[in-house]
Amino acid sequence: MHILVTNDDGVQAPGLLALAQAMRELGNVTVFAPDKNWSASGHVKTLERPLRAKETTLADGTSAFTTDGAPSDCVALALLGLIKEPIDIVVSGVNPHANIGHDVTYSGTVTAAMEAVISGVRGVAISLDSPEGHKGALDYSTSAWVGKQVVHQVMNDGLPEGVVVNVNVPYLKQNELKGFMITRQGLRVYRDLLDSRLDPRGKPYYWIGGDAPSGVVEEGTDFGALHAGYVSITPLQLDLTNYKSMDALKKWNF
Ligand code: MN
Repeated sequence: MHILVTNDDGVQAPGLLALAQAMRELGNVTVFAPDKNWSASGHVKTLERPLRAKETTLADGTSAFTTDGAPSDCVALALLGLIKEPIDIVVSGVNPHANIGHDVTYSGTVTAAMEAVISGVRGVAISLDSPEGHKGALDYSTSAWVGKQVVHQVMNDGLPEGVVVNVNVPYLKQNELKGFMITRQGLRVYRDLLDSRLDPRGKPYYWIGGDAPSGVVEEGTDFGALHAGYVSITPLQLDLTNYKSMDALKKWNF
């Protein structure tokens, strides 16, 4: 099995290293990730400029590929033939923050896995629900282990076509996990605030600031599962059609 490991935090992010090391226990691993942080960049296809790719070395001495493109660009380049050996599954992460509810539309981690599924390759995204304001290095060991369990499961049991597997892991030790829960997307509560400032020449500039998002605790959702200490596994699809509203819209009188 050939596993492509990518992320949106950059090729030297510790979450990527932990994931790559866990994936090596399952098969042959190629690491191909952006050369900078693309968090919250969403689904990107770079068309207006050339992309460069080069080899680099991870902190454990293993080799990896990196580009100046987005996470989804890395996956596209790899699957279009930059990586010669056929890829069986793309695993993205481990992101240092949860990707739940509406986050999935912003997430470079999740959209990298989506890019794989668009190309007919299995895609799994893994994110860690680290505590807000955590100081020091994060412990990725539980999330890397969870990634291994999920990828093993996907490769053995297969996946319905078009499914993107979005995994979120509570920040707990492995033996503290309550279990694995199949969930639906919950509701994020964003607490964004406009931070408007003046540059030295008196011109305004803006930051999207505010506190980290919270969420609505609801049973059966990604947020609810994390809150209860379970690994959340949400099967996502790229078909965003709201089928329930189609009949209502068909009544529109043009
Ligand atoms: Mn990220």
